[in-house]
Amino acid sequence: MKTCAALFLALTLLASAEPSFRIGDPARSDASTRYFDKDAFRQLVEHMPKTELHTHLEGAVRPDTILELAQVYNIELGAANVEELKKKIQMRPGENLLDFLKKFDPFRFVFDHPESLRRVAYEMVEEEAREGVVYSEIRINPVKREDVLSIEGVLDAVLEGMQQASEDYGIESRLIVSLNRSYPLESAMRVARAAAARKDRGVVAMDLAGDEVHHPASKFKEVFDYAQSQGLHITIHAGEAVGPDSIRQALEVCHAERIGHGVRLGEDPAVLEEVARRRATLEMCPSSNLLINVVKDLKSYPLMTYAHQGIPVTISTDDRHIFDLTLTGEYLAMAEQCGLSLQDLEKISLNGIRSSFLPEREKARVEARWRERMDALRSDFALEP
Ligand SMILES: [Zn+2]
Repeated sequence: MKTCAALFLALTLLASAEPSFRIGDPARSDASTRYFDKDAFRQLVEHMPKTELHTHLEGAVRPDTILELAQVYNIELGAANVEELKKKIQMRPGENLLDFLKKFDPFRFVFDHPESLRRVAYEMVEEEAREGVVYSEIRINPVKREDVLSIEGVLDAVLEGMQQASEDYGIESRLIVSLNRSYPLESAMRVARAAAARKDRGVVAMDLAGDEVHHPASKFKEVFDYAQSQGLHITIHAGEAVGPDSIRQALEVCHAERIGHGVRLGEDPAVLEEVARRRATLEMCPSSNLLINVVKDLKSYPLMTYAHQGIPVTISTDDRHIFDLTLTGEYLAMAEQCGLSLQDLEKISLNGIRSSFLPEREKARVEARWRERMDALRSDFALEP
């Protein structure tokens, strides 16, 4: 970053009319606490090193890429430009989960070809790198149109795209293989075998997603027993559509080390205590929960409530192009709506490395890079160490 950024920030600080964003220990309010206006704080958050643990490749395909690929594969999208396409594939306030599921229909063809899969995986990592992400875990459900591309073919193409972008942009990314809760056990087991066979090529974990109401995680106990025996890590979407019982089941029956969302955890203090005891990380996705009507607003979003109970929390976009989000925007939303300071956001970003599914040695290497980037930011913006 150039010195002009620091100069601009200094000028903004002086001119700051309503400085409301905080840098400093949230537990103290003394001389070390400084306040920033929104633009200055945005610059800091844009440039700070970030991590993302919960992002679906299916929801992260860029609208302009969909348009281009539709031409390549001769697909009629019913949209002449990006704006028209966005109206079809992006969530609008007031829509529900059923509407959400339909958003993917126009561009399912993207997942039928190794070339387009490689491209969208590459662009996903590229987009994260451009907003300061140093480590990311991307997930995909590899069961697409098996008559045209196998589960293995999907995974291999995605891994190739991710690896190329990771090399080009100097960031670390790993793949989580996601199962849909509606799958029969036999098909889920095939996915788990394909995932385990790619453990040394970037697949780090298995996930369970989909209809939490009608398909409890316990149905897949055998699959997660197998995944664990193969050295894969486990994260499970729970506590989003169903309450804390679903979280308990994910932890106790299916060996989940992290919980996708977990936003409803607070409904049962005993489960909350258990999550804290295990230090199971919550992969929280604030705007996703808001847009799917799991929470009524972001002001009362329970992220810091859980953090204060000793639970590691992280922030992710979930499906960035369906919800029209960026990770920077999510960090800022939590600062603006819930009063998180820069230090809170730093801890949350670091949680993403410490709760990652990397081996300990690799975590240390990524954390060292994160610290280098954070130190450079402090120096550029003339912040105290
Ligand atoms: Zn998700």
